[in-house]
Amino acid sequence: MTILAKSVRMGLMRVKFWGVRGSTPTPQPENLRYGGNTSCVEVRLKDALYVFDCGTGFRPLGQQLEHESKGNPVLAHIFVSHFHWDHIQGIPFFGPLYDSAENRFIFHCSSRTRSLKRVMEEQMASPYFPVDMSEMKARRDFYDIEEGRVPLGDEVTIEAMWLNHPQGCMGFRLESKHGVLVYATDNEPGDPIFDKNVRKLAAGADVLIYDAQYLPEEYEARKRGWGHSHWREGINIVMESGAKELILFHHDPDHDDTLIDKVVREARNYYPRVRAAAEGMEIGIEQAAAQAH
Ligand SMILES: [Zn+2]
Ligand SMILES: [Zn+2]
Repeated sequence: MTILAKSVRMGLMRVKFWGVRGSTPTPQPENLRYGGNTSCVEVRLKDALYVFDCGTGFRPLGQQLEHESKGNPVLAHIFVSHFHWDHIQGIPFFGPLYDSAENRFIFHCSSRTRSLKRVMEEQMASPYFPVDMSEMKARRDFYDIEEGRVPLGDEVTIEAMWLNHPQGCMGFRLESKHGVLVYATDNEPGDPIFDKNVRKLAAGADVLIYDAQYLPEEYEARKRGWGHSHWREGINIVMESGAKELILFHHDPDHDDTLIDKVVREARNYYPRVRAAAEGMEIGIEQAAAQAH
């Protein structure tokens, strides 16, 4: 049975983590329980597929889609938060982009710094990659989004807001009648405008996926200005915004499984519904109605 078939029958929004690491892949034994691939989160809603970011976790997601589609066309909306390596590095290795002209991928991101089409062309340019984008048979559409709310069909509304990160990063709120998911990674606390943005995105959400790269003490001691957050700020956001569950995400490359376990234990002293994102982890969300804010 495919994940898609399960999601249709259960009537749920289902979320699966394919890459949870920040900055760079870390395929080291001491990291493998949480995982070494960089940012990629899949969301299934009825028969629709949404993806947040295309880090190295995007490659195994592509393998799964090839496996379950059995040659049928694959269609997905893909939201790219920004163009740092850990959010785009999986694109040239995503099989369904090469497989078929029937596949269609609709990319959404801000082109304030560069268009995603150009980013993809540049990352596959000689001598950095052996083939160029002309090898990709799938139909690719690129939509430029800025802050605000955009309906995607009848089922889903996406809200995007800027976060506090070098060269910018967008946070996304996906609303549907089954629930509300917020994907807000790569965000440094302490700026009044962006602090407000992330709380507005998270308001009343069922699940908040949030940047917890550093320990609070690491951040204070030597990581100010690096564009990332910590679990204690994640707790502040859920408590101030009324979000229900916090998923700590974008784990630091130097944080091994033992340290992340410790972070989760500590965080639960402040708020009970906290988990750390792990590769392969799946969660289901079901609400009677979307949360308005
Ligand atoms: Zn990142
Ligand atoms: Zn970044």
